[in-house]
Amino acid sequence: MEYFHRGSSSILDTLSDKKHSPDFAYARNHYLGSRLRIVCWIFILLSPFWALFDHLLLPAEPLPELRLARLFFFGSLIVILLLSHWRLFARHQTLLAAMLLLSPACFYAYLLFVTAPFELPELGNYQFIPFLLVATLSIFPLTLLESLLVGCLVIIVQLYSFYVDATPTAYLIQQLWLLCALLVMALTANHFHLNLLLRLYRQATHDQLTGLLNRHALLDLMDSQEQNESRGHPMGIMLIDLDHFKKINDTYGHAVGDEVLRRFADLLRTHQKPTDRIARYGGEEFLLIRDVGNINALHAQADAIRKATSTLSIQDFEGNAVQCTVSIGVAITGPERPLNRTIQAADEALYAAKRAGRNQVKSADDPQLAIGTH
Ligand code: GH3
Ligand code: MG
Ligand code: MG
Repeated sequence: MEYFHRGSSSILDTLSDKKHSPDFAYARNHYLGSRLRIVCWIFILLSPFWALFDHLLLPAEPLPELRLARLFFFGSLIVILLLSHWRLFARHQTLLAAMLLLSPACFYAYLLFVTAPFELPELGNYQFIPFLLVATLSIFPLTLLESLLVGCLVIIVQLYSFYVDATPTAYLIQQLWLLCALLVMALTANHFHLNLLLRLYRQATHDQLTGLLNRHALLDLMDSQEQNESRGHPMGIMLIDLDHFKKINDTYGHAVGDEVLRRFADLLRTHQKPTDRIARYGGEEFLLIRDVGNINALHAQADAIRKATSTLSIQDFEGNAVQCTVSIGVAITGPERPLNRTIQAADEALYAAKRAGRNQVKSADDPQLAIGTH
């Protein structure tokens, strides 16, 4: 919600991922993974050309060591690429991005180490590696602290190269200054990149009126969690619909209708358990998904929401009280009832609640309804 009210971007949002929601962390990780694979492929495709230029430019003596180092570097790129596709690393793409940036740095450090005795001025071909790596940081939506950490490690490699080369002090200071300036630019790019991503993410996944997740975002999230964690435990579905909402709009006006939706969304948030996911499912329909062991606990939570809604104190512009009630259908997933079937079952229970007179909770497992078994 805060992103809609706050025009300017906050440095705290991009400094670290502590303030990011688990949903955004998941989306950023996914986005980072796709960037990582592209950069990995670019490095892989550049490798043969690099080998060719070394063969043409460098003297023969260090070439065997160079070949070995390049083989290790190439191998590490392939390993990172494979790991990024592996489910176990699905949530650790930042770590893989750091590995991707640090492996050319290690390659460079090793190269300096083995070629030092040859005193090769031609190794200038490789001196741009730290600069390239610091610039590459800006391709990823990294937080400032993540970027700073990788940038500092690259600068340490550069310092090591000066030590090996016995570089003159003036040149050393100039190069370090350039690297630091480039790192500041990369950090600035990271800040804007991550901020833009945060704002786009909120606009694409959240309903503007209530600040809750929208329907597609919630279903996508459940889909990806199901795939990644193969959740075995049951999930509770609560489908909530405001009663006679059209009448509220017709009697008090659309603006009051909007206020009712906002206030009801706030009420839902106060009844939200830490692992609950809530979305605005349609116009005046809301969906709550909960990790829950049995239908009774879900039914009790739904009834608390129903009771609290009927006591909501909302007034129109003339101070008249606006009465509002909800009907709720609840259902629980099971081995024979996947998520989409469970939402359908909760929907049928909701309409049973409407038919039974509204302002009540019905369960799909109520034997009288016999829902979701066909
Ligand atoms: P029922 O008890 O059977 O659910 O009746 P209902 O009037 O609540 O249901 P119906 O589907 O007939 O009407 C829903 C109304 O919700 C119609 C639509 O104009 C209104 N609505 C949908 N989105 C919004 C919104 O964002 N703001 C406002 N003010 N009204 C909305
Ligand atoms: Mg309704
Ligand atoms: Mg409706």
